[in-house]
Amino acid sequence: MRYKAFTLQNINELPQFKKLNKEVLNAIEIVSRVLPFKTNNYVVNELINWDNYENDPMFILNFPQKEMLHKKDFESINNLISKNSDINQVKKEIKKIREGMNPHPAGQIEYNTPILNGQRLMGLQHKYKETLLFFPSQGQTCHAYCSFCFRWPQFIGDKEIKLALKESEYLIEYLKEHTEITDLLITGGDPLVMSADLLDKYISQILNANIQHLRTIRIGSKSLTFWPYRFLTDNDADDILRVFEKVQKAGKSLAFMAHFNHPQELSTPAVEKAIARIRSTGVQIRTQAPLLDHINTSDDIWSSMWQRQVNLGLIPYYMFVARNTGANNYFGVSLANAWNIYRSSIKKVSGIARTARGPVMSCMPGKIRINGVVEIRNEKVFVLEFIQGRNPDWVGKPFFAKYDKNATWYDDLVPAFNKEAFFFEDYMNNLFACA
Ligand SMILES: *Cc1c(COP(=O)(O)O)cnc(C)c1O
Ligand code: SF4
Repeated sequence: MRYKAFTLQNINELPQFKKLNKEVLNAIEIVSRVLPFKTNNYVVNELINWDNYENDPMFILNFPQKEMLHKKDFESINNLISKNSDINQVKKEIKKIREGMNPHPAGQIEYNTPILNGQRLMGLQHKYKETLLFFPSQGQTCHAYCSFCFRWPQFIGDKEIKLALKESEYLIEYLKEHTEITDLLITGGDPLVMSADLLDKYISQILNANIQHLRTIRIGSKSLTFWPYRFLTDNDADDILRVFEKVQKAGKSLAFMAHFNHPQELSTPAVEKAIARIRSTGVQIRTQAPLLDHINTSDDIWSSMWQRQVNLGLIPYYMFVARNTGANNYFGVSLANAWNIYRSSIKKVSGIARTARGPVMSCMPGKIRINGVVEIRNEKVFVLEFIQGRNPDWVGKPFFAKYDKNATWYDDLVPAFNKEAFFFEDYMNNLFACA
């Protein structure tokens, strides 16, 4: 199978183009000026159910929806385009709308990029002690784009905000200096858009550096959803599996962090075969996904997805709360609802699938998990816990926020029991002060 991308430029080449009604097409045209849009032949021919495409989670996963923009923003672009306005005016409006969509959630750039010999390393993020994130510059795109993506700014070619590192020498030097790092997470975009050759270059350099404290290499990828043929029929499909084996042979473990939003993504013969091939190299596949309105907000979806994953030999890992960026007005779910969905999903599966931790907010101070809603001394509260923190000492300590049925992100929360501040706020304020 040969990969073919579809974007706004060649959307009329879609085999299903004639099925798209006028309104849907107009929404794609307008919204995709602001938020990136790309799909491909596997997604449209094997994943999307075209009989009911407007409600199909795989269609909503890839194709921009009208409601992803605020009404007034949609109208303003629509007006400018239909009046054939000056291109610079359109661009200015697009820029303004994007800036209103929180393109840099959780202080990704300011507070997480490390410094080596006085130089800021833009392709690395070191937020949690044990794990370094690496964004290889050639892996900063994806086989298709999720409409909810929190890394969307890097797909719109905005160089200033694009995270990427060309020089793997810096990576190795940094790894060597930081003996607390046990895990390297190679991420993107999708690092598996890279050729096997290129991935091999990065991996071999890392392995050859013989860094004893580095134990696990993780690769974050949505290729099993968007292009399973990466492991089946691409020219270098076999080679990529050899790279995975190489890591294991060097005595490190390789974890494939797969991104699945819906059981439909696990339903094709291609994805089944791809999973089997990857697993045959000894690689562990762990799974994660955000909870998204219009895509996966039901306990049946999550429980059947986790069960299916376990059947295929995958290990459920995270259920995330959708980040406060991009089209969050459309995809966001309240924290209260997120917890309800998590609980009713996890109840339905056996212990083997209860390795999924959630709902988790990956936010500025750390990864905060919502452990429940309870009433303590006549006050309804959220019970929260860090499962990762900027300060490792925060992990596992319960803390409490006032219950708020509308809260969708941690900055909507205030401390319970009339406390002035959460226990970690002093630390965070100091971080702001010296950054
Ligand atoms: C989630 C995350 C990690 C990995 O955390 P684990 O708990 O080890 O899975 C590392 N860095 C950042 C910035 C993250 O958001
Ligand atoms: S696979 Fe990940 S990085 Fe790529 S578009 Fe989807 S959410 Fe964004």
